Amino acid sequence: MSDNIEQDYRRVVDTSVGTSFLPGTSIEIVRGLQAKRVPRQVLFDFDGTLSLVREGWPEIMVPMMVEFLTETGTSESQDELYKLSHDFVMELNGKQTIYQMFRLVEEIEKRGGTARPALEYKEIYHQRLMDRIESRRDDLRTGRVEPTEMLVPGTMELLTNLMARGAVLYLASGTDENYVKEEVELLQLSLFFGEHVHGAVDDYKSFSKAQVIQRILETNNVDGAELLGFGDGYVEIQNIKAVGGTAVAVASDESGRSGKPDEWKRNRLIGVGADLVIPDYAECDRLLAYLFEG
Ligand SMILES: [Mg+2]
Repeated sequence: MSDNIEQDYRRVVDTSVGTSFLPGTSIEIVRGLQAKRVPRQVLFDFDGTLSLVREGWPEIMVPMMVEFLTETGTSESQDELYKLSHDFVMELNGKQTIYQMFRLVEEIEKRGGTARPALEYKEIYHQRLMDRIESRRDDLRTGRVEPTEMLVPGTMELLTNLMARGAVLYLASGTDENYVKEEVELLQLSLFFGEHVHGAVDDYKSFSKAQVIQRILETNNVDGAELLGFGDGYVEIQNIKAVGGTAVAVASDESGRSGKPDEWKRNRLIGVGADLVIPDYAECDRLLAYLFEG
């Protein structure tokens, strides 16, 4: 039904693997550095990895799924539909939003319902999400709220430090590109990323994080060993590892900003091969000293 150009989740590491911490920090080392090369190109996911503007999006997406599944007349309870929807929404997180909608279409059809095109569901979702987050965007626009309050802690320090080390920074997001660009501006991150901001487009086959990575490597004529990536979704971690890069899992606690790793994200990202796990960038100086100087 859909051309799946983004790979599904593939567990390659058992989560019971022994890990250690950089002494005196919350920086968890799953695997010692393999690439003894200084990272030159650094790729970031956006939502949940840097930006918290869309924090709480599952609370919009999951009830919407439940609503449309209920309309099929299924005998499943609301709780059952909630659990089903929550599981597949979170499982697909990191891919473009349209993939969650493809799955909704499948689930509706499985129950004998007549589904609308996936793109329509994506638009409905997005409208509802914007109703929720427009006030946050407005707070940023008017200066009522500082960008740092809607960023993963330590983001500005991390990006500044990376630039000072001569790294080139890129963003690749499963959220629609026009919104990513707006939110990059609102969060005052433009100076770090310039033109290197990539996101989903309606023709979903013309974008993937893997394609962005390929272009970075080709344009700069470098191999994956010089690539460093940060993400809170499995797609970017899996893609970075596939080309031999170093992957930092950001197990961010988006709503609480507690400085403690989100266990669900941690397990899932270790599972696809993350080299390091961090809760946020509060200890970015130690992290970068490790990544750049060994
Ligand atoms: Mg993310």
